[in-house]
Amino acid sequence: MKVGVIAVQGAFREHIRVLRELGADAVEVRRANELDGAEAVVIPGGESTAIGKLMREYDLLQPVRDLASAGKPIFGTCAGMIVLANRIVGEETNHLGLMDVEVNRNSFGRQKDSFEADLDVPVLGPEPYPAVFIRAPHIQSVGERVEVLATYQDRIVAVQQDNLLATSFHPELTGDLRLHAYFLGLAKRS
Ligand code: GLN
Repeated sequence: MKVGVIAVQGAFREHIRVLRELGADAVEVRRANELDGAEAVVIPGGESTAIGKLMREYDLLQPVRDLASAGKPIFGTCAGMIVLANRIVGEETNHLGLMDVEVNRNSFGRQKDSFEADLDVPVLGPEPYPAVFIRAPHIQSVGERVEVLATYQDRIVAVQQDNLLATSFHPELTGDLRLHAYFLGLAKRS
């Protein structure tokens, strides 16, 4: 299964490594034609302003929106979650604007730049999920169609809206492959 990983900035190599470990044909995407035949797309963490701007410049926004409306799963992690959101606190515009969520950037950043926390993520089973947060955003509010998958200290940090998946944290940086496996499961069903 071909999975396009947006590779304009940020932690794309780590996602590719995990996806390949799970048997997916993960490819770096910088040009729209590299998304041809993709069954799913990952937007990594990094810096959302840079990723959004480069995706706009490289004409990647509309092709990703088209894949999303065709039912292909899209997974945004950290900055990638901000790129997916349709509202960003304090900003006038969005990037992909696909998910009915309002994100707050750098919400954990002031207290601590990065930290790890064990999360309860029921869709992944009973074992706690080790989540790595790096200058992480959180989700301030969600629309009706959005399912909350996990919270941390009463803040929403993982969500799903049909074929769209987003986390505040970096699932590609831990040895736990369950979230990527869950994502590939969505792609198999789509
Ligand atoms: N705070 C970053 C942003 O707003 C995201 C950080 C990350 O992806 N680790 O883009």
